Amino acid sequence: MIISINDHVQLIRPDGKAVFPYSNSLFIKGDPSVLIDAGAGGNAFSQLKEPVDIILLSHNHYDHIHGVSFFPNAQVWASREEAPGYGDPIIHASYNGFEHWEKLMGKPRTKRLADTEVMPPDVPVRPGFIPIKLWGLIDEGSQWDTGRERIIALHTPGHSHGHCSFWLERSNILFSADIDLSPYGPWYGAENSDFDQFELSIRRLAEIKPSILSTSHRRLFYQGEDDIPGLFLDYLDIALQKEHNILEYLTQPRSFMEIASQPFVNNHPSKTEYTEFWSRMMLRKHLQRLKKQGLIAETGEGQWFRI
Ligand SMILES: [Zn+2]
Repeated sequence: MIISINDHVQLIRPDGKAVFPYSNSLFIKGDPSVLIDAGAGGNAFSQLKEPVDIILLSHNHYDHIHGVSFFPNAQVWASREEAPGYGDPIIHASYNGFEHWEKLMGKPRTKRLADTEVMPPDVPVRPGFIPIKLWGLIDEGSQWDTGRERIIALHTPGHSHGHCSFWLERSNILFSADIDLSPYGPWYGAENSDFDQFELSIRRLAEIKPSILSTSHRRLFYQGEDDIPGLFLDYLDIALQKEHNILEYLTQPRSFMEIASQPFVNNHPSKTEYTEFWSRMMLRKHLQRLKKQGLIAETGEGQWFRI
């Protein structure tokens, strides 16, 4: 589905909900024309009747990049930090953190993510490494002028180390990618995720006060109808509340596995092996952060407790 936001900016939505394996894209008509992210699926992209000159990728996650092959003539740009992960499967794999699986889950990883779900027919590639030839590298402040619009890249790390948001200066439209206002809160379950950075990035976007906000996985939000800065801070609060609950639980010593089994640790409605692993990766980051802040410590036997 294509939704015109104004006379030169369109939201390209997948047919159903914009959740994994899909994500929203933004198309900016002009010279050059620009597509932000490529995960809306073949059905949605087939409705786009204009050529795409440039693709800007917010970050190197499967659900944002699997449709790049639909636009063979486009110049693809991605963040400098994550550029190596588009060319080298070993570097790409290092972003995931699956080397922690056995320790965090108590058993080896037996199924690849690609083997746990069947992808819909309009998603052309399987989850995993997708080689993409990059034409340009995105840095904080990189700009593209399409004639009607100036697109400015904001490096907003945390979800991944090279995660970028894009601000359309003239229309005051913000594309915040996977700072996505998910009702389950921020996702920082990968090795290249960082919760401290995520917090700073959310607080930064909350200051922008866009007229219209597009995230990768939800509907459009409009200033006036929606309290956009408040929504960003509520979203951050879901993770901060989880951290608070962890701290409360550690008034007596607990093992990692005991903490991981608490209902507030995995708040994702789909309880798969992978959502469980990611919740434990996020728990691990909270424990490291609380330890760094001097609020908790770990005994030699691996028991965590509040100081
Ligand atoms: Zn992502």
